[in-house]
Amino acid sequence: ILTDKLKDPTLATDKSLAGNEWLAASQSGKTFEVTNPATGEVIAVLPDLSKAEVEKAIDAAYTAQKAWAKKTGKERAAILRKLNDLMVANADDLATILTMEMGKPWPEARGEILYGASYVEWFAEEAKRVYGDTIPGHQADKRIMVIKQPVGVVGAITPWNFPNAMLARKVAPALAVGCAMVSKPAAQTPLSALALAVLAERAGLPAGLFSVLTSTDAAMVGEEMCANDKVRKLTFTGSTNVGRILMRQGADQIMKLGLELGGNAPFIVFDDADLDAAVEGAMISKYRNAGQTCVCANRLYVQSGIYDAFAEKLAEKVKQLKVGDGFADGVTTGPLIDAKAVEKVKEHVADAVSKGAKVAVGGEPSSAGDLFFEPTILTGVTTAMKVATEETFGPVAPLFKFETEEEVIELANATEFGLASYFYSKDIAKIFRVAEALEYGMVGVNTGLISTEVAPFGGIKQSGLGREGSKYGIDDYTEIKYICLGGI
Ligand code: ADP
Repeated sequence: ILTDKLKDPTLATDKSLAGNEWLAASQSGKTFEVTNPATGEVIAVLPDLSKAEVEKAIDAAYTAQKAWAKKTGKERAAILRKLNDLMVANADDLATILTMEMGKPWPEARGEILYGASYVEWFAEEAKRVYGDTIPGHQADKRIMVIKQPVGVVGAITPWNFPNAMLARKVAPALAVGCAMVSKPAAQTPLSALALAVLAERAGLPAGLFSVLTSTDAAMVGEEMCANDKVRKLTFTGSTNVGRILMRQGADQIMKLGLELGGNAPFIVFDDADLDAAVEGAMISKYRNAGQTCVCANRLYVQSGIYDAFAEKLAEKVKQLKVGDGFADGVTTGPLIDAKAVEKVKEHVADAVSKGAKVAVGGEPSSAGDLFFEPTILTGVTTAMKVATEETFGPVAPLFKFETEEEVIELANATEFGLASYFYSKDIAKIFRVAEALEYGMVGVNTGLISTEVAPFGGIKQSGLGREGSKYGIDDYTEIKYICLGGI
């Protein structure tokens, strides 16, 4: 069913790439199924790799990395640029694979492919700019030099909500600076990652540098990545809980970690905001990917003077959303990833309603299918409700009412998370005050969409470590070496 839909069916592979070898399901003792969340249909059967295969991939990466690091930045850049071009040229097919395994609307999937490619392009450019430093010597006969070198083999574990982009923005900087990467995509969405590996091979990437391991035993893969001393860094995007596990596991060998974890983004609308712009920002920040992004507005704080007007306008827009199969025309909201995700959304809505919230729009599972939920707005929401503290990861906008700037900053910061935040205001002094007071790695002012390859993406507090994208994104994959030249 999947390959029928592709211009280039070879992009959808049912083999796993471990080091130098594409492994078929038949070569592996165990297999697992990938299903389309919109229909429940099985779209691929993949090998469920064992620990031995993970080790093999790490060994291959270890060997390949040595030669890769010796290439010039320009040589590495040429391959990454080719990969970017191939991603763009095959964007339609990559989007089709993505929608089929993950469910998001096809145009949104295509947008993700181009977004993922933009990181590959960016880091292709940055490959040539891994600059060091010279420092005036501390003694007359000394000169000091600082160089940056690749950390080595990097393990990557990625989630299902952006099956292409979350991996692209890890593998691109890693390869750019001369690292090798052994990755494990989420078992729900491995096909997009495998398609990326197919294209990397076509772009001329030497074998062994980029493995895509398919496995349902995430804990085993994570343990091996942390315990194997050939792996020098682990980069993970996913839940804060798993991030904590990996951090503990990595402690034994002082593993370098890049963590992009959960968020609980506040979205604040002040009385002086441009109402239409705020509604538009809320739509994109909340309902994109059916609310399944770590930078999604999770808590909408609306000042009392504008609360009713905002709720009304938002409701008008939300009623226009179309729930359905991501391949159908005009669909804006696809399925949630699995039954557990639907349960969590139901539970959050039920909890809020039981504590006095009102359902302004939606509130129920959708008739479109088992994993669909209606885009929802809750009003009269309070801090006693689960939606105030937990990430919902679904299409539910809880609207909290607030009175003062001080109050809303306190509410917005009252969480262990610190990934993205948003606010709308036209008062320049307030804009500076609030942007500086929000304890978040990213602040969107008068915009609901902040992700771009040119800016540093990442969180503070329990939302993570490190940054992806921008000139800072390179640093996560390099080590600083200081060379002291004496006897001059
Ligand atoms: P989500 O709620 O987005 O599924 P997870 O953190 O559970 O978040 O999943 C993100 C990625 O982490 C997936 O690739 C998943 O397979 C992997 N994962 C889950 N549990 C572990 C674990 N104990 N060790 C390593 N990786 C894990």
